[in-house]
Amino acid sequence: MQKHMTSLVSKIRFYSSKNLPMVSKLSHTEHCCKILVVGGGCGGCSVAARLAKVLYKHDIIIVEPRDVHVFKPAFTLIGAGISQLRDVTRPMLQVLPDNAIWVKDSVEHFCPADNMVILESGATVEYEFMVISVGLEPNFNGRKQLNDVTIVYANANDSLFPVDLYEDAVHRIAEKLNVCVQFGVNLVKIIPENNKAIFACTSAPENTTCLKYSFLHVSTPMKPPKALKKSKDILDNRKFVDVDERTLQHRKFMNVFALGDCASLPTSKTASAISVQSYVVFKNIMNAMEGNDIEPIYDGYTASPIFTGYDSLMLAEFDYSKEPKPTFPFNIDKDKAWLFHLQCKVMPHIYWNHMLKGTWDGPEKFRKIFRLEFLKRRKEDAYLGCK
Ligand SMILES: Cc1cc2nc3c(=O)[nH]c(=O)nc-3n(C[C@H](O)[C@H](O)[C@H](O)COP(=O)(O)OP(=O)(O)OC[C@H]3O[C@@H](n4cnc5c(N)ncnc54)[C@H](O)[C@@H]3O)c2cc1C
Repeated sequence: MQKHMTSLVSKIRFYSSKNLPMVSKLSHTEHCCKILVVGGGCGGCSVAARLAKVLYKHDIIIVEPRDVHVFKPAFTLIGAGISQLRDVTRPMLQVLPDNAIWVKDSVEHFCPADNMVILESGATVEYEFMVISVGLEPNFNGRKQLNDVTIVYANANDSLFPVDLYEDAVHRIAEKLNVCVQFGVNLVKIIPENNKAIFACTSAPENTTCLKYSFLHVSTPMKPPKALKKSKDILDNRKFVDVDERTLQHRKFMNVFALGDCASLPTSKTASAISVQSYVVFKNIMNAMEGNDIEPIYDGYTASPIFTGYDSLMLAEFDYSKEPKPTFPFNIDKDKAWLFHLQCKVMPHIYWNHMLKGTWDGPEKFRKIFRLEFLKRRKEDAYLGCK
């Protein structure tokens, strides 16, 4: 691997922009950089900030079309009436690192074999390394537009959560809140004028049921942005950027890395996961640039906050093994008020001030401290119990 990377780096360095093929007859700009970051969302910003600390200004180009950066994890709070949209957005210029160049454009086509992308404007960007973090888009076409106080949670999957401990906990919470949970049903049509939702049975789609609602909350299926869909050679068969799940390096193009929602990582797609992934991408790009081995260090850590009320939340943290990986090692399958406040008050602070600035590697340090404290206390309790 190391040998391959070193030869790849020297091959790329050998390419000057003049050696690369012309891709368009339009008069357009040709940008050239050491590292191209595609997407200025959660993953792109956080990797770019880390790299910007150790590279020169003209080394990093970030391609991002939007003027505004959105703190997506707060969408749930907006939906619940706890936050307002204006509280969860910042101008893009404010969140991108100073020590990098922002090209306000969209990638239209990825050409990884030529170490280049073509932008919507016709401009091109050549790179030595590329980081892709373009997220996913809601697929509104995935749903056709078309009682009392009972809450029905209808779910196409056959479980509520991929981790047994949290699955049991969520079932208990649903029971306590009188939420009727239905599995294996897929929302296929909404008839808003009659407040009706039609569900197809996942095992036999011809069997449908109709549910009348007074309030409907739908989480839409997601799809990759169109630029990815056009660039099949970087995707896996599920249309995610095909990277190694431990190194986050592309399986075919060794100078390409991906993280976040668009990456083919078999873990829950969250900002918490990105906090660790951005460190891994940074570390492995540095390894590649310095001719060191790429390190298989991502364990799939992710964290899903499960709101259970206006003052309670359960935090489900786990990794690829689907075993819990709690930061706070006590009553991890219980919802608590302090976790609710952590999510609403502390997480936004961490996001804006640390994650986007590349100084938040996830909660591992805290996990170690809390675990040591916890073990110490257990030993003390056991000692007192013996006395
Ligand atoms: C409702 C909701 C609630 C959530 N709650 C939580 C939570 O509580 N905790 C948690 O940890 N996570 C949560 N998440 C998940 C978290 O927000 C995402 O995992 C995270 O934002 C993904 O970051 P990303 O960088 O992969 O993509 P994004 O943040 O979506 O950024 C992608 C960026 O790429 C840009 N882009 C797209 N196409 C192109 C292109 N062709 N060229 C250039 N740029 C492009 C976009 O403009 C965008 O800025 C939630 C998500 C949602 C939707």
